[in-house]
Amino acid sequence: LVEIHDVHKSYGGLEVLAGIDLTIAPGEVVAILGPSGSGKSTLLRTINHLESVDQGSVTVDGQLIGYELRGDKLYELREKDILQRRTQIGIVFQNFNLFPHLTAIENITEAPLALKRASKADAREQALQLLARVGLSDKADHFPRQLSGGQQQRVAIARALALDPKVLLFDEPTSALDPELVGEVLDVIRTLASTGTTLVIVTHEIGFAREVADRIVFVDGGRILEEGPPSRVLVAPEHPRTREFLAKVL
Ligand code: ATP
Ligand code: MG
Repeated sequence: LVEIHDVHKSYGGLEVLAGIDLTIAPGEVVAILGPSGSGKSTLLRTINHLESVDQGSVTVDGQLIGYELRGDKLYELREKDILQRRTQIGIVFQNFNLFPHLTAIENITEAPLALKRASKADAREQALQLLARVGLSDKADHFPRQLSGGQQQRVAIARALALDPKVLLFDEPTSALDPELVGEVLDVIRTLASTGTTLVIVTHEIGFAREVADRIVFVDGGRILEEGPPSRVLVAPEHPRTREFLAKVL
């Protein structure tokens, strides 16, 4: 479903992604682990073209993201076309990033309405269903400031689902939350995982990754050093850097 091929990205002289190859199957749940600064967020952001790439390509469901092929060269798409293709990919950030001036339900209906995907009534109906799915039926008309961090993050997940994306990306979705609010957000992600949604999750919650991920991908220095099922990578890591990392976090 998602094909990341030989992706390179530098900032100034600093090579942050040094040739990433990763293929993700439909329904697969992939957890990306790695030390701070290893390029995890940058990798996630290249998947939906919030970051351009210097080399390589990303396709989702056979469609190039951010670029089009003319002859044998890639050219960046126009903003409108970038946005159109990006709708295939939902993303949830560490800090929720809700629109502060919009209510929960308005946050969720914003994109479907802006893209003229649905009538007002249909968008509202769908948003209410999504709010129910994340356990927030009673908060539709609350503004973000009136919600706890865990509730805000669940609205953000509902918003990311509103365009019915083929894949959902999470960048440390619980690391800005008070410990007692982490569970409610992980519960929602767990349910998505068990219902066949394709997920890519950058996380420091190793226990959660072990539980929900089909595959663990360990990134360091902008490279995938090791990948495999949690039962292998987390229990018997092969790469010394993976062992070192796990020894620190477990
Ligand atoms: P963390 O676990 O702390 O979130 P990360 O693995 O997500 O780390 P990235 O955010 O991808 O790491 O950053 C990788 C490297 O790229 C870091 O050294 C960072 O300083 C650098 N970097 C990221 N974004 C930019 C940018 N917009 N401009 C310049 N350097 C950047
Ligand atoms: Mg990061």
